[in-house]
Amino acid sequence: MAPFLSFFQISLHKNLLSFFFTYVQLEDIKEKAKKLAKYKLCDACLGRQFAKIEHGISNRERGKRIREMLGLEKVDESECWLCDGLMNEIEKFADLVIDALKDYEFNTFLVGCKVDEEILRKEKEIETPYAESIKREINREVGKIVAKKLDKPADFKEPDIVALINTLYDVVELDVRPIYIYGRYRKLVRGIPQTKWYCRKCYGKGCEYCNYKGKMYEESVEELIAKKALEAFEAEDESFHGAGREDIDVLMLGNGRPFILELKEPRKRNVDLKELEKQINEYAKGKVEVTGLRYAKKEEIEKLKSAEYPKIYRVVIKFREKGKINEAVNALRGRIISQRTPKRVAHRRADKIRHKKIIDIKIEDLKMNEATLIIKAESGTYIKELITGDEGRTTPSLAELAGVEMKVEKLDVIGIGDKDEEK
Ligand SMILES: [Zn+2]
Ligand SMILES: [Zn+2]
Repeated sequence: MAPFLSFFQISLHKNLLSFFFTYVQLEDIKEKAKKLAKYKLCDACLGRQFAKIEHGISNRERGKRIREMLGLEKVDESECWLCDGLMNEIEKFADLVIDALKDYEFNTFLVGCKVDEEILRKEKEIETPYAESIKREINREVGKIVAKKLDKPADFKEPDIVALINTLYDVVELDVRPIYIYGRYRKLVRGIPQTKWYCRKCYGKGCEYCNYKGKMYEESVEELIAKKALEAFEAEDESFHGAGREDIDVLMLGNGRPFILELKEPRKRNVDLKELEKQINEYAKGKVEVTGLRYAKKEEIEKLKSAEYPKIYRVVIKFREKGKINEAVNALRGRIISQRTPKRVAHRRADKIRHKKIIDIKIEDLKMNEATLIIKAESGTYIKELITGDEGRTTPSLAELAGVEMKVEKLDVIGIGDKDEEK
């Protein structure tokens, strides 16, 4: 077995930096190779069982050397006990992947594969400590061909597209990473919800109740923004993530509310967002306006949702008499109020008491039966209830402190501060 030994000794020298074999290990490797001789393995499958020993040559080449040194007969791939011809199909799989990718714009990709259970079982049976898996080899070898032919790099961490080859049926499934776009929106009309609101009877299928629209409202901020983005990215679907939301009858003015639009299975990835911004604003004219569109990362959604943005509101309120409204406003400035979940939202939010700071409040205009207030409050403050008191569930409230009944006529968000500012 001298030639065989020297084969591994040569390997040893070449890889002195990454591997160090003791004499005992070397004997072990030799013995394992001999044991495998009783299986009819193609060169690739034989070489793969020793893949970790040296890098820089293919499993097929390594297998050939081992076979020649052991004096074994060559086994054709199609006769191979382990792969049953699979190792002959690498080129074909690469072509399938390239064909599946042809309609998609992408910068990086990754190849994955599904292999027959029977092959995986056999692989376990003959596995040596130096082996790599057949899946890994297929992924790598197919990936190399695809990278070369399409001139795009594989990316193991965050590929734009994962191509999953089902080697049993010769089909390729694609997993296309979504595109995320950050921006701010202004809502200029009352009566539209922030997000799509499915019919509460049919949940989107369409029924008599919703006039076969499947939705409770004809339009939403989400749909007005997403329409043109879906077209530009040729995406299948979208999700809208807002930094909080305003009520349907509330305007969102000022610098606008931050949002992230998630576009699913996009065929295009490199869209000029300045141009898209123009198209959205043209399409949603008079209803919704977006600014500052930029590409974002998925992780930003969590941050956006949990970020505490203080908000500035303009509220028009009505009353029969103004009572001690001036004193009440002064008393609320800088004060922390406690709010039990309002009656109007109790059906969808947990019933609990929240403490919120009224960062600033002032009277902009005061008439006999009407006042306009500017209020800056911590994220999550219920403004309507801050005014009315919600039958004692919010305290103190403007009505309580002024000693008169009040009602909210109109409410607009006129500014959203930076997150975590002035807690
Ligand atoms: Zn094989
Ligand atoms: Zn319906």
